[in-house]
Amino acid sequence: MPRTEYRPDVLDPDSPIGRLHRQRTLPCRGQADTFDIDEQPGESTEDRITRLRIAVGICRSCPARTLCAEALLALPPHHQRGLWAGQVLGAGRHIARAVLAEAPPVEMAAGA
Ligand code: SF4
Repeated sequence: MPRTEYRPDVLDPDSPIGRLHRQRTLPCRGQADTFDIDEQPGESTEDRITRLRIAVGICRSCPARTLCAEALLALPPHHQRGLWAGQVLGAGRHIARAVLAEAPPVEMAAGA
């Protein structure tokens, strides 16, 4: 789930981000530790890449993925950071490339 702090109470409920927030069940809810694109304390680069591949796999099977991508595009550019709709933004090109190179494909992620 995106790390940027939002105020759901002041969001336009009909905006993409407002509609995303209204989803009762999102697979990334409560999984901030998995979806955090930043390196965790004591985490190796390889462990970070492995963790983010798991998150991308979750996104690839998420029923709200299209809405999540719309919400991302509706954000100001400086807020477009984090893991959104299976995209790794702001982690550095090397990390993003390594994550996406071996993230589970949609079919495998959906069956996981
Ligand atoms: S696509 Fe990923 S980040 Fe977006 S709502 Fe679904 S699980 Fe969360």
